[in-house]
Amino acid sequence: MPEGDTVHRAARRIGAALIGAEIVTIETPQPRHRHDRWAERLRDRAVRAVDARGKHLFVRFEGDLTLHSHLRMGGRWGVYGRGERWGRSPRRAWLVIRTREHEVVQFDGPVLELMTEGRSRFDQRLAGLGPDLLGDGFDEREFLARLREDDPSRGIGDALIDQRNLAGVGNLWKAEACFWAELDPWRPLGDVADEEALALVRAARSLMLDAAAAGGHPREPRVYGRAGRRCRRCGAVIRSRGQGDDNRTTSWCPGCQR
Ligand SMILES: [Zn+2]
Repeated sequence: MPEGDTVHRAARRIGAALIGAEIVTIETPQPRHRHDRWAERLRDRAVRAVDARGKHLFVRFEGDLTLHSHLRMGGRWGVYGRGERWGRSPRRAWLVIRTREHEVVQFDGPVLELMTEGRSRFDQRLAGLGPDLLGDGFDEREFLARLREDDPSRGIGDALIDQRNLAGVGNLWKAEACFWAELDPWRPLGDVADEEALALVRAARSLMLDAAAAGGHPREPRVYGRAGRRCRRCGAVIRSRGQGDDNRTTSWCPGCQR
């Protein structure tokens, strides 16, 4: 599942292809958007910015129109040279934006909508997002304040992927950040000191920035996907179990994460 590092990296690549370039065509092959007239509504409008907030991506056009995308489990953005082979089948394309040099393609949605800037500011899903972990001015105090308003009996791992507390972290980086911060993801929020919560988000930020810089290929996970194998730090057997309301799998080392 794409997390904030993947989405921020996609925003940079899309921005490099679209900002300052003349847009030649816009197509929406997905039947759901066939009658939305996006090509008409976006005609002659340049892209002025592409940015990410957590796992949400925004392509901002001149004249107050913004494309909002969320990839959920299976969506993807691709940026290709004209004529280059796409990473997924053209049948899976929901949106194709062509410039003279590039094709920017959104595959498999599943959240893709054109909205006004005003609506994007007041949209409930977006307005409620916590501070963006990979944003330039990530606000640790704002994160702590939100964490302290959450249920103190909730496990820190589960709280970390709640996008209202912090935008950008998903299941992979939750598990890995808890490992690097030596924190048990099941420890209730009420028993986690501020310094420990901050060490955890700093670990997550550092891991995700490294992955984004490395082209989206994280170094080998220490606990994610390694249940039943031995911990490289202490040798204990790594465990995994569903956590939280959504029962998202959490992996951790019971030997060295407290
Ligand atoms: Zn261990």
